[in-house]
Amino acid sequence: MKPSTHRPTQAVIDLAAIRANIENFKTYIAKKNGITPEIWAVVKANGYGHGAIRVAQSADDLVSGFCVSNLDEAIELRSHGIVKPILVLSGIVPDDVHIAVNLRVTLTVPSLDWLKMVAALDTLKDLDTSHLKFHIKVDSGMGRIGVTSVDEANDIIALGDKLGMDFDGIFTHFATADEVNTDQFLSQKTMFDELVNGLTRRPRFVHSSNSAAGIWHTETIQDIERLGDALYGLNPSGTALDMTYKITQALTLKSELTHIKIIPEGATVGYGADFVASKDTIVGTVPIGYADGWTRDMTGFYVLVDGQKCQIIGRVSMDQMTIRLPERLPIGTKVTLIGEDGAEKITVNDVAAHRGTINYEVVCLLSDRIKRKYTNG
Ligand SMILES: *Cc1c(COP(=O)(O)O)cnc(C)c1O
Repeated sequence: MKPSTHRPTQAVIDLAAIRANIENFKTYIAKKNGITPEIWAVVKANGYGHGAIRVAQSADDLVSGFCVSNLDEAIELRSHGIVKPILVLSGIVPDDVHIAVNLRVTLTVPSLDWLKMVAALDTLKDLDTSHLKFHIKVDSGMGRIGVTSVDEANDIIALGDKLGMDFDGIFTHFATADEVNTDQFLSQKTMFDELVNGLTRRPRFVHSSNSAAGIWHTETIQDIERLGDALYGLNPSGTALDMTYKITQALTLKSELTHIKIIPEGATVGYGADFVASKDTIVGTVPIGYADGWTRDMTGFYVLVDGQKCQIIGRVSMDQMTIRLPERLPIGTKVTLIGEDGAEKITVNDVAAHRGTINYEVVCLLSDRIKRKYTNG
């Protein structure tokens, strides 16, 4: 879908904030651990809704590589000039391995079975497998993809060697690095460390840190930090744990009033006629709805107009929603859905808390229909 450019709703992404978030992380780790690990920017899901291409291009000189979730996201980066390493974090369909090899994209091997399927491909003989770089995924307790024993990992290394492939890395992913309780985290760390110690050969990259591990468990950072949420200026724990260095939220979401009117006492607003005016009420229309990822449960939350909090009333429709205004304001008046207006501020975390979800989901759900504008690029 093409973004809707002829309406005032837009997400503004501050690229300088993203760059500063990376720099601040590096400074923090250098001070705390005395190391300078490679930073690989996680730009899956269209850069957590921020726009993978622009984020990757802007961060390119500050990072050593990129992580995406699937092959199409890797293809998108390669076709927009990104030449640094790209790791696909999920297992891809074995038949598509040739695409990854041709684009020099690093693959995740999620199991020995997967690599055996690749080994059985007719098309493998036409490929220069020395360009097939792979990282073994270890399931240390997340319960998703990955090997669970050192024997399986060593069998993958042996089969990879036999096929002439490049064993470039091994990694795992923590389920609870953003939580106060560290039991699960420590058991995963022990499992991963022991498995790596039992390998027949250590690859170039051993890595296990996402943002949360990099922020609150810096001892886990080895060769690569996979920096996602914090790169966008979001605290991966929401508000549970305090940040250990300065981040700035890169995304703001803005629109404008497209319609204003006074509705009389007893008049209703929106589908289901849920909202009934208890007195004459000034209302305004904002052109954003659930098709933009501004979900129906935003009713009852607020936006900022003229530096004031204005409640979202009635049901959020597909393309529009209604807010209560303190006074008659002109059409075109700025509306801030995420960001600052005067002394007031709405963060991604505030929206997530209202919805009972995490900040990741709020930004990832912002649909392609919302125009992205980049500043400080
Ligand atoms: C998404 C993802 C990350 C990044 O996580 P953040 O919490 O956003 O930093 C890192 N590693 C893997 C395997 C992931 O899937």
